[in-house]
Amino acid sequence: MKHKITLIPGDGTGPEISEATVKVVEATGVDIDWDVNNAGAEVYEKEGTVLPERVLESLRKNKVGIKGPITTPVGTGFRSVNVAMRKIFNLYACVRPCKSYPGVKSRYENLNIVIVRENTEDLYAGIEFELNKPETLELIDFIKEKKDIAIKRDSGISIKPISVSGSEKIIRYAFEYAKKNNRKKVTGVHKANIIKFTDGLFLETFRRIAKEYPGIESEDRIVDNMCMQLVQKPEIYDVLVLPNLYGDIISDLAAGLVGGLGVAPGANIGDEIALFEATHGSAPKYKGLNKVNPTAMMLSAVLMLKHINEQKAADVLESAIAYIIKQGKYVTYDLKPNRNDPSAVGTSEMADAIVRKIKELS
Ligand code: NAD
Repeated sequence: MKHKITLIPGDGTGPEISEATVKVVEATGVDIDWDVNNAGAEVYEKEGTVLPERVLESLRKNKVGIKGPITTPVGTGFRSVNVAMRKIFNLYACVRPCKSYPGVKSRYENLNIVIVRENTEDLYAGIEFELNKPETLELIDFIKEKKDIAIKRDSGISIKPISVSGSEKIIRYAFEYAKKNNRKKVTGVHKANIIKFTDGLFLETFRRIAKEYPGIESEDRIVDNMCMQLVQKPEIYDVLVLPNLYGDIISDLAAGLVGGLGVAPGANIGDEIALFEATHGSAPKYKGLNKVNPTAMMLSAVLMLKHINEQKAADVLESAIAYIIKQGKYVTYDLKPNRNDPSAVGTSEMADAIVRKIKELS
């Protein structure tokens, strides 16, 4: 069956890792018609917008997409394209498997943790009140009047909404994921001891939904303790479900446990649309150098192939990637024991080695 898939190459090093990813996916023999529609900084220069309507239209039509990273300028300028797409399509679940691959430098072995992060609410909802703006001062007065709490007048304020419906959706997704993928345990992460009306609500919802899944063990952890435990004994964790901000931070922490951003894939899932992308950013300093590691985007393609029910192709691609990493010969600088190793290959050469292995395995 032919699949039509939206491909957003991204900017910075995005186009290089996207090209490498397309190459290895095609080598599996899966029949894909790539609907290439870029977004990001380079598109802005030509079209005056970082996220043209044609990109959204393509995703609406194809329902499945894969994207390279897109740069978000810090402080000023446009809001993140990545955050915008998650909101527009209500891609409420961000799924980030963190799995050990022999050959990747790491302090730990045999880890296989999946982070399920809520993707639309919390402090990422974009409800912000800027310093000294009339509406900010009005809000400060309102809070003094209603709550008798004096917020300093020289404050900026960001709002953290967490809903019952949003929490139910992500928590149920995590348990369903666990069931479908033969996982044993789901851990709910929160700071309900301090933040009672948002994290408290998340925790209450977690405990309620957990009862619907008696076959899956459940437990909850306060986020600071979770950080310590992940560093001390990560092997006891399986699936974690978290509100947006903690999910963002813990998914980078968990990526670090298995060897870093270069090997951390991700999926943004909604009821209708799924968008796959690496956890890492556009690493702009390496743009055009054929240097960065394409593994994270390739592993995101593995998740994509599973999503479109091409399980065999997904397995072959993952095995080929794992083989090349373990062999350690045709890998990028960051996968070599010494980052200055002159035998490191470029992005496209690593992809070529994976293609050769796929041909051997298929
Ligand atoms: P980054 O992930 O781009 O880079 C962080 C560090 O990791 C860099 O030192 C880089 O050398 C290294 N690195 C990242 N990817 C690598 C790879 N594939 N191979 C080898 N090394 C790699 O993070 P940043 O510097 O904080 O962000 C750069 C830009 O990317 C920012 O504008 C940020 O907003 C954006 N960003 C986009 C996404 C996305 O598109 N989903 C995600 C995160 C950051």
